[in-house]
Amino acid sequence: MPALNENYLKLEKNYLFINIAKRISKYITDHPESKSNIIRMGIGDVTLPLAPCVVEAVKRGAEEMGVKETFKGYEDSGTGYDFLKNAIAGYYSSFGADVKASEIRISDGAKSDCGNIVDIFGDSNTILITDPAYPVYVDSNLMSGRKIIYADCTKENGFCAAPDQSVHADIIYLCSPNNPTGAAFTFSQLKEWVDYALRNEAVIIYDAAYEAFITEDDVPRSIFCIEGARKCAIEICSLSKTAGFTGLRCGYTVIPEELSFRSSDGTEVFISQLWGRRQGSKFNGVSYPVQCGAAAVFTPEGREQIKVNLEYYKENARILSSALDELGIFYTGGKNSPYIWLECPDGMGSWEFFDYLLNNANVVGTPGAGFGKNGEGFFRLTSFGDREKTLEAAERLKKLLAK
Ligand SMILES: *Cc1c(COP(=O)(O)O)cnc(C)c1O
Repeated sequence: MPALNENYLKLEKNYLFINIAKRISKYITDHPESKSNIIRMGIGDVTLPLAPCVVEAVKRGAEEMGVKETFKGYEDSGTGYDFLKNAIAGYYSSFGADVKASEIRISDGAKSDCGNIVDIFGDSNTILITDPAYPVYVDSNLMSGRKIIYADCTKENGFCAAPDQSVHADIIYLCSPNNPTGAAFTFSQLKEWVDYALRNEAVIIYDAAYEAFITEDDVPRSIFCIEGARKCAIEICSLSKTAGFTGLRCGYTVIPEELSFRSSDGTEVFISQLWGRRQGSKFNGVSYPVQCGAAAVFTPEGREQIKVNLEYYKENARILSSALDELGIFYTGGKNSPYIWLECPDGMGSWEFFDYLLNNANVVGTPGAGFGKNGEGFFRLTSFGDREKTLEAAERLKKLLAK
């Protein structure tokens, strides 16, 4: 009989979205007439279709695969085609981040790399994760039984924790703009984390999946806009939210060539080589048509086309934010993020507010408690929905919650 990795048995059951679905279906059973009236503002998935130039590029890639002369099998490097890596490096330089094409690896999305990157680090590390957080960071470290400490994100610090200089961590997860809170680090806040990492000889795993939603000038689009980050950070990015690739699957991870740490015998080990070795053994690259589609995102035409979708979501976020402004409800996000993270009114708990909103306004969101203990008393709404429904949800919130 094989022994099991019993760390898996200690993981939280994936209660959050199951629980939400259960409560909605019970409500519909009890109130069948309201079924078509329910507005779902809880999903973390996009709803607008791919940009036309992306669709064309994927088709063209597929057609090339059907012709002997242009057929592509395994990719030589498995790290992504140069045409795509060069396009991404060009994008980084457009906002002043110093990233070379050779430092970029194309992935099938940010979730895989966020979860798998822990493979190249030892199990004795102390892991620092913000609370609340995207559950992948916690789960992937619990799976190997690592020690996790949390940085509290609260109303008091605007859900952007600063490093606590009195604690030591080896691996730090940061996500900005953040899921679920929508809060984003300014240049100076992120610099504090980079300085902390350098002082602690720690590595920062920086999830920039929502970079494309940034609107404010003092919010960096990449950790590599911060001095010193090339010596301590790995950046993980995705086209899922940027360009609607949740069903197409493509992302990229940047490891600076000088990023290195010492092994126990004192040898300098380069992180890009270790990660390359891991991926070389367990990952065979992203399909050619998908990489063609991804490269189209970075063309001037592609940038224009995805901007239309991003503006649509940003306008939804503005509609929800202004409803909360009118109501005088505290929230973070909505500015540099598709997420709005609001304080449940009248001291209600996350699930209590979930039920209150479902019962009295037929609006569904995500209870903050599902993302960590500091999420209790908070609630996430997303701007990935339909415009009409977002407007209607904002009206219902105003009506229900007006004092
Ligand atoms: C959606 C999301 C991702 C992207 O995941 P993909 O695997 O690229 O679809 C990464 N990080 C966070 C925090 C997310 O919310």
